[in-house]
Amino acid sequence: MKILLATSNKGKIREIQSLLSTTGDFEVVGLDQFNLGDIPETGTTFLENALLKAKTASEKTGLITLADDSGLVVPYLGGEPGVYSARYSGKDATDAKNNAKLLEKLKGVPLEKRQAFFVCVLVAYAPQGKYFWVEGKWEGRIAFEPRGNKGFGYDPIFIDLETGKHAAEMDLEEKNQKSHRGKALQVFLKKWPKFLTEIKGEL
Ligand code: IMP
Repeated sequence: MKILLATSNKGKIREIQSLLSTTGDFEVVGLDQFNLGDIPETGTTFLENALLKAKTASEKTGLITLADDSGLVVPYLGGEPGVYSARYSGKDATDAKNNAKLLEKLKGVPLEKRQAFFVCVLVAYAPQGKYFWVEGKWEGRIAFEPRGNKGFGYDPIFIDLETGKHAAEMDLEEKNQKSHRGKALQVFLKKWPKFLTEIKGEL
């Protein structure tokens, strides 16, 4: 069965393809195979954005569609950068600029108030309108300065609560076991077969 993943990120497509293949015979395709244009991320929550992407792409293609949305939440800053994580430092944001902005906003703030967590919401949407969603979280602290050169995004300044390591110091396997995305995918895989059974008669 063909499943659309609402992203053009080849790494994400490969990852989902390999995970789904443990539950059945699925071919995972990305948005680059279709000419859907940009799907605006206008929601104010991770769930709204993931659902918007999944629903739009599923309705336009007629395929069961998976979409995710993720970001970093810092309660001391009222939840920033949140759904704006990718574009925190403005229109031409880069990972380095985003990290610098966050560190600047937390200047002088002690470690106990630098609590933070990553969130990943993953949605599966069937063209008839049935969907389910799961969420994964990763708890940590924002560091005083960057460390490590692996990963992406806020990884250099995110300290894992359990090990004290910065996320950018972890190799992919270790990060996948702890991360918001890894945890969301584990829960997703448990619920996926039941969802398929539920929508089977309607496809
Ligand atoms: P998206 O869900 O692909 O739109 O990612 C949103 C943004 O959240 C990314 O551009 C990163 O800035 C941040 N982010 C999400 N997941 C991670 C992660 O695992 N490490 C570091 N930053 C992340």
